[in-house]
Amino acid sequence: MAALVFPTLPTVTLAVTGRRERFPVRRIFCVGRNYAEHTREMGGDPQAEPPFFFTKPADAVVESGRTIPYPPATTDLHHEAELVVAIGARGTMVCEDEATRMIWGHAAGNDLTRRDLQAEAKAARRPWDMAKGFDKSAVLGPIRPGPMPDAVLRCLVNDAIRQEARLSDMIWSVPAIIMALSRLVSLAPGDLIFTGTPAGVGPLNPGDICKVEIEGLQPATVTIA
Ligand code: MN
Repeated sequence: MAALVFPTLPTVTLAVTGRRERFPVRRIFCVGRNYAEHTREMGGDPQAEPPFFFTKPADAVVESGRTIPYPPATTDLHHEAELVVAIGARGTMVCEDEATRMIWGHAAGNDLTRRDLQAEAKAARRPWDMAKGFDKSAVLGPIRPGPMPDAVLRCLVNDAIRQEARLSDMIWSVPAIIMALSRLVSLAPGDLIFTGTPAGVGPLNPGDICKVEIEGLQPATVTIA
């Protein structure tokens, strides 16, 4: 192999519940509008819209427990509490059974969003990248291997509940999301999928502690400096 012009950065990894080995992160996909009430609060029609996807770079990952600066270029940083699916196998145009077998584990996640930039992008019909894929925008708890039974998802800001829903309230199930995404790209081990947020998204301010809790998983907590 040819020498490199500079050394590669280390692979982004996440802690795994109950294991010393870590999960290597490849790509981060996110589903827009996967809970009916949140779709309505963002001005959409939950019946009309198939799942759509956007991405964050792998190095946007922030592990639970960290303090991050208030991001630049926004005055309206929002929390979005989400179940995150960790993919453990390759798959292209998969059926439901194959989609289910590709699931390696799950984590609690917070899809941090520069809501003001997202609103500007929507109004100008521009991409969402700078609203969604900025540095330190993907807060993640440890990945728990295995299946995910139905559970309550909550977002707490300074211990006050801001978002609360059941995972079974999702419009598109996890296998349905994997099936749809695998028709757009070939999935591979290390890919993560943020599965969408329920109603109640709102601002985070300097000094806030934001905790995403999903029953059975370790939380994803971040402090805004
Ligand atoms: Mn989201």
